[in-house]
Amino acid sequence: MTKNIIVLGSTGSIGVQTLDVARMHNIGVKALTANRSIELLEKQAREFRPSLVAVADEESAKKLRIALADTDIRVAGGEEGVKEAASLDGADTAVNAIVGVAGLMPTLEAIRAGKTLALANKETLVAGGSVVKAEVKKYGTRLYPVDSEHSAIFQCLQGVPDKALKKVILTASGGAFYGKKREELVSVRVEDALRHPNWSMGAKITIDSATMMNKGLEVIEASWLFDVPDEKIDVLIHRESIVHSMIQLEDNSVIAQLGVPDMRIPIQYALTYPERLSSPVKELDLAELAMLTFARPDYDTFECLGICRRALRMGGLYPAVANAANEAAVSLFLSGKISFLQIPEAVGNAVEKFGGSGQNISLEDIIEADRETRRKVLG
Ligand code: NDP
Repeated sequence: MTKNIIVLGSTGSIGVQTLDVARMHNIGVKALTANRSIELLEKQAREFRPSLVAVADEESAKKLRIALADTDIRVAGGEEGVKEAASLDGADTAVNAIVGVAGLMPTLEAIRAGKTLALANKETLVAGGSVVKAEVKKYGTRLYPVDSEHSAIFQCLQGVPDKALKKVILTASGGAFYGKKREELVSVRVEDALRHPNWSMGAKITIDSATMMNKGLEVIEASWLFDVPDEKIDVLIHRESIVHSMIQLEDNSVIAQLGVPDMRIPIQYALTYPERLSSPVKELDLAELAMLTFARPDYDTFECLGICRRALRMGGLYPAVANAANEAAVSLFLSGKISFLQIPEAVGNAVEKFGGSGQNISLEDIIEADRETRRKVLG
């Protein structure tokens, strides 16, 4: 079980819940990082007393350095500071809860420093899966999923022989606009898209849920984590978010992991694996729920899901391109510059127009494809 952690992105939704788990089980916190939220970061630093706090935004780092001057906590700034935090001595596990591909380099730093990785930052695997997997193998480290669907699959796979896995079945809540058709999505507002039915999460992933890009990213993430191709990954709409995902075995038996929707269960499992410790999460009362429902996704209305599947099948840099176009388009949507349906349009165009690549891609190729795609989408 993990004894000391580094929390990358500690001020976000996953970061804060990770610190809840750390507080409950007396797990030491050696480093914390954020981008700009220095008020919360200062509060966290004063409570958990890490030896290093890193702030990606240099100006914010300067302010935090002054605020923490009465402590012995060191404050580092910029991307280099975040990388330093990711590889800090004295911690066995790095929890990566940064949003977006900004999490890729810290992930690699943590792996190269021999840390176990508890990975919430799905964009790391979507854009850089081949590089990350190669580094995990090279440095002999472990990677545990934090994303609830992937944690569910990981939990279901315990004790299952490798060859017995027939397919994985990812469940999806369907997001804010489930059941709607394209014409109803033309003029939806940012605040409508930010209203998720079951989960309280950061803004980017909430928009990704509304477009179903999130499920597309998760298909790619599952492919890297569990070594399964696109055709062995099913997606099933499950509005209640109680069944977090399933696996189907060669004999057609299906194993599922259930629980109330609370990220502290998968976060805790990634930190305590293979132990099962007590949790503040409520017990699941199936009789009270009475009914669980399942349906097929609407690929015509929520195009991002199909685009991600296509990008996965084409391989190489295509998933990185889809991810970069989405990150850029979501930021434009959140700032009111494009409409909701222009997000799938931007992702589809980027994948369609991308010139292609071989399958042997380097980290530099990924960074370049990411930068170039963002540049085109942001205009
Ligand atoms: P949030 O937006 O709530 O938090 C993101 C964190 O990353 C914040 O601490 C933020 O700092 C930090 N950050 C943002 N940009 C940078 C940067 N350039 N460099 C360093 N740090 C940065 O996101 P979530 O917690 O919702 O999601 C985090 C990741 O986990 C995402 O990849 C998401 O897909 C995944 N995930 C989230 C789930 C959830 O329930 N929220 C569920 C499953 C997966 P600051 O506060 O200063 O901006």
